[in-house]
Amino acid sequence: MSASSVAPPARPVKTRFAPSPTGYLHIGGARTALFSWAYARHHGGSFVLRVEDTDRQRSTPEAVRAILDGMSWLGLESDEPVVYQTERMDRYAQVIAELLDKGLAYRCWASPQELDAMREEQRARGFKPRYDGRWRPENSAGRTPPDGVSPVIRFRNPDDGAVQWHDLVKGPISIANAELDDLIIARADGSPTYNFCVVVDDADMGITHVIRGDDHVNNTPRQINILRAIGATVPVYGHVPMIHGPDGQKLSKRHGAVSVMQYDEAGYLPEAVVNYLARLGWSHGDDELFDREQLVSWFDGSHLSQSPAQFDPEKLDWVNQHYLRGREDDWLAGAVRSRLERRLGGAADAALVATLPGQCGLLKERAATLEALADDLTLFHLEPSAADAGVREAFDKRAAAATPAALRDFASRLPALAWNPESIAAEVKAVIGSHGLKLPQFAIPLRLLVFGRAQTPALEQVLALLPRERVAQRLEAGLAAIGG
Ligand code: GLU
Repeated sequence: MSASSVAPPARPVKTRFAPSPTGYLHIGGARTALFSWAYARHHGGSFVLRVEDTDRQRSTPEAVRAILDGMSWLGLESDEPVVYQTERMDRYAQVIAELLDKGLAYRCWASPQELDAMREEQRARGFKPRYDGRWRPENSAGRTPPDGVSPVIRFRNPDDGAVQWHDLVKGPISIANAELDDLIIARADGSPTYNFCVVVDDADMGITHVIRGDDHVNNTPRQINILRAIGATVPVYGHVPMIHGPDGQKLSKRHGAVSVMQYDEAGYLPEAVVNYLARLGWSHGDDELFDREQLVSWFDGSHLSQSPAQFDPEKLDWVNQHYLRGREDDWLAGAVRSRLERRLGGAADAALVATLPGQCGLLKERAATLEALADDLTLFHLEPSAADAGVREAFDKRAAAATPAALRDFASRLPALAWNPESIAAEVKAVIGSHGLKLPQFAIPLRLLVFGRAQTPALEQVLALLPRERVAQRLEAGLAAIGG
């Protein structure tokens, strides 16, 4: 048999992502979608989303919505209207009728009990259980179908030769037809089965490249045979290996978040998730950080790994931090505000919101996610309590005899001070000089009274980001509480 699928078809590249909605867009699905999207973009082709929603119990409107939300958050939009399998039932019925007409499919009345007995007997004789073709027309001539049984419809798989394809990821694959039995394409209630719908869709949609998880590799020879039977061009297949968790097991909820939108909630940026996912099972030299355009220009279908990729949360944090740092301070302020207010239990103080971009600019260097940034921002927004025993104890430990007087002196100079880091730093220097203190004997107690903690980024930077009156108030309240 000639391997007609080896040469890429001359049709414009068209890829698809075909999730079965289960309630969320899984990290693994998102990675497959990204590869399909990038491959299409690289070749100037198109990418289409197809929702495989024939399992009506699981495929609720909410589950479909969750997939669409995840895709749009990642920026992987379908180039054509989304295809829903549930809207194509008439088409599947039509193709089944054609296959029946042509003798490429047939009705099978074997009951489940009968099939169980058949498999049992095959096993007992040391064979692999397999439908024996008992209702193929040539084997059932003259037999009357049993009363009251609705038949299933089976595809008449070729008996001889092998199905061969050149997998983009796995290389050449060949499966003998003798290994494949006559697949059920319509159930007794007439509903088409999964492999059949995929085939009709891929054919009708003109899909040239199917990039999907390698849990589907066993379906491929069956799908190729059906595609040939309906006269469709066989697409190129690429089966990408699974994603494993850090422990080497298949990625699952045990490993933490597996839904893409949970990463949004946890404060990851879509460009970081896209960058990170692209590296799970694909590489471009040593490049770890690249944008969407670079990905598209590099993603030609080569360098796809044959072994499972390992999900590494620390690396994702590292990638996210890179993108967070690159965002404008104003953007970060807008993005982080509601997360901060959740921590404050209400609206943030307007005077402090005014310098929120500056606060983000100062703290973004160290935060891996928007959630971590929101945690760090509470530095400015939570009123410290000098009455707090911990604060008091830390204050006493760090303060020298002259510290309260120096703090009062500093407070008295505040109204005349130009409110910027440079002049604040100069004033701090002048105050500690005149009170004979070392910087930590002044700066740490001051931090404790104004921020409630001993450590912050550079003192003059954090002070300048609080309104001057707020510093004065906190200092005064703090000095009163410690009795200074
Ligand atoms: N609906 C299948 C899934 O979610 C994918 C089918 C395919 O890509 O061919 O696993």
